[in-house]
Amino acid sequence: MARRIESGLSKSLVDELVNSSNSQNVSIREATTILSSVSNRDYAASLRKLFDISHLRSLASQLARFLPGLNEQVFGVTDLGCLERMARNFGVMLRTNYVASSDGRRLRGYYLNDRTVLKTPLIWLNSANHPVGVAATFWHEMGHHLTHEIFGSRHSAAALPFATDYLEHLERPEEIAADLVMALGCYPREAAEAVFRQSTQRRAQWNFETSATRVRSYVKSVTGFDFSADDSARTNLYRLAGMIHVAKLRLALLREYSI
Ligand SMILES: [Zn+2]
Repeated sequence: MARRIESGLSKSLVDELVNSSNSQNVSIREATTILSSVSNRDYAASLRKLFDISHLRSLASQLARFLPGLNEQVFGVTDLGCLERMARNFGVMLRTNYVASSDGRRLRGYYLNDRTVLKTPLIWLNSANHPVGVAATFWHEMGHHLTHEIFGSRHSAAALPFATDYLEHLERPEEIAADLVMALGCYPREAAEAVFRQSTQRRAQWNFETSATRVRSYVKSVTGFDFSADDSARTNLYRLAGMIHVAKLRLALLREYSI
């Protein structure tokens, strides 16, 4: 049995993570701190503070009207040309640039909707990230676009750094609304029920080793996305933290809101 380190995380997965690349620029302590901050957070309690049941269900069904197939099939397209055409259908201009950084702390994308600056709303994506991460960011930014009117903002600008900002999203309804598109696009209802079968009872705890391993293997099976030796261990750490964030959000939507 894997030795426990701190915060209930199993050593085996964290060890694998910090050794996932020759570029070992993250310590076990830092990886544990970042992963436990996401995996120990009570997502259901955070969502309840922001949305009541009818509000969040109504938001999910409004989004599904714009995006047929949302919560019914995996949004697995990563081809930038296809994403660009989808954006154009919603009156959004998609732009991408390759902006690398040595420490993995790259901006993933942003959404800008301000008629005083641009005629057309803009989504910008950093193509230096893994194509699956680029597509996930696309759906997050599309979430901003589709909920722009709902949240009634005249001007809207939102950036998504490639780092550990996930927990800040839990304080901001417009960020959770954007993450909702990403989470439902990654885990349609049936897939969520299968992946989280053991976790859907209200009292069940998020078990890091079991849940993170299952989530990682689900994401790999539907997208091919996993740790990569071509990237730094820090990049892989942020990937895993991001996967856990999306999974915990999806589990809370399923368990608390029956979405
Ligand atoms: Zn955002």
